[in-house]
Amino acid sequence: MDYRKKSEEIFEYVQGIRRQLHQWGEVGFDLPQTVALVKEELTKMGIEHYPVGKAGVCGIIGKGDKCVLLRADMDALPMDETTGLPYASTSGGTHSCGHDCHAAMLLGAAKLLKENEANLKGVVKLMFQPAEELLQGAVDMIENGILENPKPDVAFATHVSVGQPGTTVGRVTYSSGPALYSGDAVRIEVTGKASHGAAAFMGVDAINIAAHIVVALNEIISREIPLDEHSVVLVGKISGGDTVNTTAGSAVLEVSLRAQTEEKRNFLKQRVKEISEGIASTFRGKADVQFVYGMSPLYCDPQAAADAHRYISQLGYTPVCVPCAGGTEDFTAVANIIPSVMLNLGAGSLEEGHICSMHNAGMVVNEDVLPTGVAIYCQCATQWLEENA
Ligand SMILES: [Zn+2]
Ligand SMILES: [Zn+2]
Repeated sequence: MDYRKKSEEIFEYVQGIRRQLHQWGEVGFDLPQTVALVKEELTKMGIEHYPVGKAGVCGIIGKGDKCVLLRADMDALPMDETTGLPYASTSGGTHSCGHDCHAAMLLGAAKLLKENEANLKGVVKLMFQPAEELLQGAVDMIENGILENPKPDVAFATHVSVGQPGTTVGRVTYSSGPALYSGDAVRIEVTGKASHGAAAFMGVDAINIAAHIVVALNEIISREIPLDEHSVVLVGKISGGDTVNTTAGSAVLEVSLRAQTEEKRNFLKQRVKEISEGIASTFRGKADVQFVYGMSPLYCDPQAAADAHRYISQLGYTPVCVPCAGGTEDFTAVANIIPSVMLNLGAGSLEEGHICSMHNAGMVVNEDVLPTGVAIYCQCATQWLEENA
């Protein structure tokens, strides 16, 4: 089947699904309308499917010993959309990471793969997952059996990319080996002792402690990470105190960490804990450091990456292998178990006027990317099975 041509023919179908998901803008594991639509569409196509975990859906196409997994995430981010698009979300959730595109493209691919089912040399497993933005959805589906019966031999995922230099519509990139950074969310609860400001010596100022922690955490990058390595330690949120003239009894810092290797990730976590606890006790307070959620760095299987490169080239695109990038993905949970590759699809660059980037409430996707994603999903699955059955 000429997937590139066929994917253009079903453009309106995929666009319609994408716009509907976009308008709902459902978040996290709470995706009732999105999940209902995915199930309904799979049923209409005659594709066997079943729920997995809290809000995941697995579809099955084809028969045989070998199995390819295609993954799309479905969740939006909790922010108020500012695009002004006619199909903008009004729900307080915004698809500013493009997961509406991923789910729609996978449904489009499902349609074509089902049409071509007789020629598939094995099983295609469709993974529609919730809660990627919480880095929890893939893990939840894995814990509930998405990678069993049958166990996939290889997995492919796509992600759109918007608003950066070079994220031109139609550009396809991937990494071979290290692909994305780890990500951790850390919550530091500082406990002091509230007191009247005129008798501050009787209290323990949690805001002062928090301020020292912020400054000290920033030193990790400048003094403890080698020149040729990159890591991120970012205090993204801070709160504390009761009123202008008392010492704060408590303060909370929320910190995000990113690293290129699991070893460096563990180092950052250990240092954040030591520094926070040490500074708090220096000033007679206490710091409780909690690792709220996290994900390892993504490693893309070099063989699967080389295969994907060939398959995508055959569609007439020119895939480019790029170095490890700074984002984090919970597809890593799949890639930690089976050989996997993540494919990045340009969907509007800075040069093309897309001034809002990913996770910005004003981010606008150029929908011309949709057939590209559909064709790539189909070609990767079909050709991998052909070559490995
Ligand atoms: Zn995201
Ligand atoms: Zn995303």
